Amino acid sequence: VATALVAAVGLAACADGTALERAGTSTTAVPTTTAPTTAAPTTTAVPATTTTSAPPPQLVPGTLAVRTPSGILGLWYGHEDVHRFIVSTPCDRRVTVPAASSALVRGIDVLLDPGHGGLDPGAKAPSGMNEAELNLDVALRVAELLRAGGLRVELTRDDDYFRTIADRAQLALATAPKAFVSIHHNSGIDAPTRTGIGTEIYHQAADAEARRLGGLLYESLDAGLGALDAAWTRSARWGVRARTNSAGTDFYGVLRRTAGVPAVIVEAAYLSSVSEAELLATDRFRAAEAQALADGIRRWLTTADPGRGYQPGFVEDGTGGNSDLRSCRDPSLDLPRR
Ligand SMILES: [Zn+2]
Repeated sequence: VATALVAAVGLAACADGTALERAGTSTTAVPTTTAPTTAAPTTTAVPATTTTSAPPPQLVPGTLAVRTPSGILGLWYGHEDVHRFIVSTPCDRRVTVPAASSALVRGIDVLLDPGHGGLDPGAKAPSGMNEAELNLDVALRVAELLRAGGLRVELTRDDDYFRTIADRAQLALATAPKAFVSIHHNSGIDAPTRTGIGTEIYHQAADAEARRLGGLLYESLDAGLGALDAAWTRSARWGVRARTNSAGTDFYGVLRRTAGVPAVIVEAAYLSSVSEAELLATDRFRAAEAQALADGIRRWLTTADPGRGYQPGFVEDGTGGNSDLRSCRDPSLDLPRR
């Protein structure tokens, strides 16, 4: 299959990811490390998702996403020989995987990003449940719902492993999804207000479509979960906002580094709150949250609805958590799992 993948990337003149992937699985082109500078347009009938003719992707290491044999996405960094690609691991190391059972991933509908994982468990519930596990479970449910509706969905992580913020963002640029949704759950305060759900959604300050996606996700979560008679925690930052730093760019790396791909961070509810953590532990609540997120994403993709919950943005500097990658443990990318 994919010893020809790298060559196919250079040969495909269509920006549509489906075309690229098909080319990658059908062509018999000789593997090469250099992209043809004048790629011939493909004439086969491939459904185009856009009428604008973007230039074909270039073979720039670190800018192409590959589904490794494990199913885990990695960034392509060249090939060791005709049989093995060099890819990045979630811990941002370089390993090789068999090219024949790898595939290029590009032009997808949605890239879901379950926050934290591995050495970074994220927030903790009073019960001990951690955010990384909850984020992953919700994201897998959202992926299943969207895929059932025919959408092409990928995840930045699909198990309990770490991935750097830079790598998550680079996967978004490489897979070129229509939307990037980072799924988190909040912590920091536990002060039930009963004034409504305290969902916080952050969007890229300069991207109107990211803002609209945030508004539709807010509307959907508020309708699907906010109607419950729960002791919600709601901070002054509830709603849909941009958070920028004093340099004038997005505060959150996962939004700043994904410029060009509409991206949002969703903090649906407070994991640090005793009452919300109880809800978040239930299958029923997680299913409802996933349904609300999937509905909001679908609505963003298929309508021009404006959404709601918009609040003034704010400027605040801070320091993101820098994890020490020396203790990062990579999953194997070489073999199919389970
Ligand atoms: Zn988080």
